[in-house]
Amino acid sequence: MSTDLLMQVAAAIAGGQIKVIDLTQTLRPSTPVFVLPPPFANSDPFSISVISHYDDRGPAWYWNNLSMGEHTGTHFDAPVHWVTGQHNPDGYTDTIPVRRMIAPAVVIDCSKEAAADEKFLLEPSHFQVWETKHGRIPDGAWVLMRTDWSKRRDPASFLNMKEDGPHVPGPSAAAMHWLVDNRNVNGWGVEAVGTDAGQAFTFEPQFPAHNLMHGSNRFGLASLCNLDQLPPTGSVLITTPLKIEKGSGSPLRVLALVPA
Ligand code: MN
Repeated sequence: MSTDLLMQVAAAIAGGQIKVIDLTQTLRPSTPVFVLPPPFANSDPFSISVISHYDDRGPAWYWNNLSMGEHTGTHFDAPVHWVTGQHNPDGYTDTIPVRRMIAPAVVIDCSKEAAADEKFLLEPSHFQVWETKHGRIPDGAWVLMRTDWSKRRDPASFLNMKEDGPHVPGPSAAAMHWLVDNRNVNGWGVEAVGTDAGQAFTFEPQFPAHNLMHGSNRFGLASLCNLDQLPPTGSVLITTPLKIEKGSGSPLRVLALVPA
């Protein structure tokens, strides 16, 4: 490999020929967190408390304590998050190959469909139509479902809980089967609070994005934003979860490199 290649990338970022897009939601106490019905245990919300703020507790420094579940805000799902992925030795946050944390992305635009139907399900046919326009989903790519759901700023509207469970768009079980069986992807990413559709507890298998993606050692990304700023193909994501020993996931900063 030419030693100039990395310098060309660095120069293109500095010069603006490659844009860096932030796909991350700001973490704050109001950050919406997935809620499970009884008898299941739930995640703590995000909390932050000041240790010192240039005051008697520390006159020259400012810092905070944090508390949260691993799956809070914009976050990474490691394969061991799901029972089907528990036997992957490289499926924990501290054992994932770092090479897989830098990967291309494709974006399936479902924003119109999700605006018309809060329970919109992406099907295998959507992947197939996308591929006729943009080419085959590359090996090792993230597949991102754009719904513009991240534009729902009110936490209640973002979670969209109804009598019969959340009304949130996502992939069908058939879509996840198709992706796992036919393409060699890095993972699956969405704008919603979790990688599965709101009604995925009724699917067979239940929660197919978790069951099938993690069962085949793939990753998940949830609560992404700014997917409307990505091209259908040609971007590269940087996704580095915290190196938590035996972690099942973590909040992270997700960056996309995009040609200007
Ligand atoms: Mn998660």
